[in-house]
Formats: sequence, C-alpha cells, structure tokens
Amino acid sequence: MVAEIICVGTELLLGNIVNTNAQYISKEMARRGIDLFYHTVVGDNKDRVKEVLEVALKRSDMIIMTGGLGPTKDDLTKEAAASFFGKKLVFDQRQYDHVKEKLESYGIYEMADSQKKQAMVPEDSIVITNPVGLAPGLIMAQGEKAIIMLPGPPKEMKAVFAECCSLFINKLSNQVFVSINIKIKGPDEMPLGEIGEGPVADQLGDLLDSANPTVATYAKEDGVLIRVTASGADREQALVAIKPVVTRIAEILKNKIAWVKEDTD
Ligand code: ATP
Ligand code: MG
Repeated sequence: MVAEIICVGTELLLGNIVNTNAQYISKEMARRGIDLFYHTVVGDNKDRVKEVLEVALKRSDMIIMTGGLGPTKDDLTKEAAASFFGKKLVFDQRQYDHVKEKLESYGIYEMADSQKKQAMVPEDSIVITNPVGLAPGLIMAQGEKAIIMLPGPPKEMKAVFAECCSLFINKLSNQVFVSINIKIKGPDEMPLGEIGEGPVADQLGDLLDSANPTVATYAKEDGVLIRVTASGADREQALVAIKPVVTRIAEILKNKIAWVKEDTD
C-alpha cells in the first residue's frame, strides 16, 4: 500500500498559508507504517487537479486530498476526482439535512445554491459527515485504488480524517510501529568532529542498513537525532525488535547522547 497526498489550494502556492495538512497526514501515515513517497500542491484549477491526480493514481494506491471541498466555484476537488472514476455527482439527503441544520444553528434559514452544492457527492462514495463543519469527507474506492477527500480547514480535516481512519485506513495496516528517538548532544556541548551527522553515522556503521528496526539519522540545528523504528503485530513485539538496537547504539555513542525517549508525535 502506497499513499500520496495532494493538497489543493492556490493560497498554498502563493505562500499565504503553510501546508500543515500534509504534515499532519504524513505523520499519521508513518505511524501506521503506510509508505508515502510524494506530496503535491496544486492550485484551484480543475485541469491541473486532474493532471496531478492522473500522475498520482499511476504510482500510488491511496490518494489523500485536502481542500477544495467547499461551496464556492473554486472548490472543485470532488468534481475532478469523480470524473476520474467515471462517476457523477448525486444528491445526498443526509448531507443536505446536515448543512441545513448547521446553517440554522447559525441563524441562516435560506440556503444558497452554492451551499446546496455541499450535498452533492460522487455516486458510490463513502460519505463522512463533517462533525465540525459543512463539507463532508469522501472516500471513493475502485479496484485497488482509492481517493480520499478531506476538507481544507485543519480542524475539519483532522476530525474527518479520524473518521476515515477508523472506517478505512486502519484496515490497510495490520502492523504497529514504535519509534525511539536518541538525541545526540549539540555543537554547543561537544566538537562537531565528534557529534556531526557524518561522524555519528560512521560510528553506527551497518546498523543504518538494518530493516526491522530501521535506524535513520537526522541533522537538526541543536544536534543529530537518531530515530529507531520497529514494526510488529503489537507493541510488545515491536519493542522486542527495537530494544537490542537501542542498547547497542547507547553503547556505541555513550557520552555523546543527550537523551533517549519514545516518539509519541
Ligand atoms: P471551505 O468550506 O472552508 O471552503 P475547503 O475544503 O474548500 O473548505 P479550502 O477552500 O481549500 O478548503 O481551504 C479553506 C481554508 O482551509 C484555507 O483558507 C486555509 O485556511 C485552510 N487550509 C486549506 N488547505 C490547507 C492546508 N493544506 N494546510 C493548512 N491549512 C489549509
Ligand atoms: Mg473552499
């Protein structure tokens, strides 16, 4: 299973907003051990959204899209995705009632045509009511491929994504992942010749090639971070795989280590 993220929004391309949605979803995929090789950002333009979807569907199985699900003309994600799977948009009474109810709670009793658009969903899709907003999440699956559409506002994206995980995404991974971070002292504490990424990697040697757990180094401004990640059928099994390697790294790097803790992000 290979996933890929497409974030739709001209605001992202202009640098008006930061793509925190991609960061959040990436972390959630990594936590579940689902491979993710690409992030794409595309503006609110139907042809270009279709273009990036076409590329993404060739190389990935599950495309997670955020943004462009709202009621305005520049919100065209679901139209683009539906046309890809040869599906029409159809009226969904449950979503219509949801939008109506939400608007009424804001004191709006007249629904604009653009708001009615929120009740149009691709036929045969799984429709996830948005608990904190209007635009529903949508899952379209065909054969081995799936397109998941999430609203753009981060609060709404997270709420709908959580629902998508319990309905669909969690079933794709039967592995549990555990990561331990080992932080090496920074350049203000020891000479770089001892604690730079190169010297640290040299000392770790073959450990960097191991498969379960994997061991990776990251050069951070305040010193190198080593992340050791193991998978297993459950947490206990992952810990059994991870512990000897963490112990070995602690022996090798001894006084260069600032701290060791589990990555719970
Ligand atoms: P809406 O119903 O609000 O129009 P939407 O699904 O159409 O929702 P967009 O119009 O694309 O989403 O974006 C709405 C807002 O959500 C943006 O103005 C921005 O504040 C936020 N947003 C959108 N995409 C992202 C992203 N990738 N990362 C962080 N914030 C985002
Ligand atoms: Mg919008």
